[in-house]
Amino acid sequence: MNSEAHSRVRYRCPSCFRMFTSITAITQHCESESTSCRIRHSENFRAFLNQLTAGICDLDGLHGADGTNRYVVPEEAARVFGRG
Ligand SMILES: [Zn+2]
Repeated sequence: MNSEAHSRVRYRCPSCFRMFTSITAITQHCESESTSCRIRHSENFRAFLNQLTAGICDLDGLHGADGTNRYVVPEEAARVFGRG
């Protein structure tokens, strides 16, 4: 289990700029009535959610050999979207 790679994935709330380490965490933040964040009331909230759910890949540094971008699929995304 390579948990260190997953731990580098970050999601930032575009409204309050808090950082979250999983899709689950930022989704709960966005849906929570207890937070003072205004993201839920934004007219762009739906677009943001679409972007969030599409964001199952994240940039995770560069390959040393050829310098191309390396993408990872967060563990939470795999769990949320299922593997069958
Ligand atoms: Zn927020």
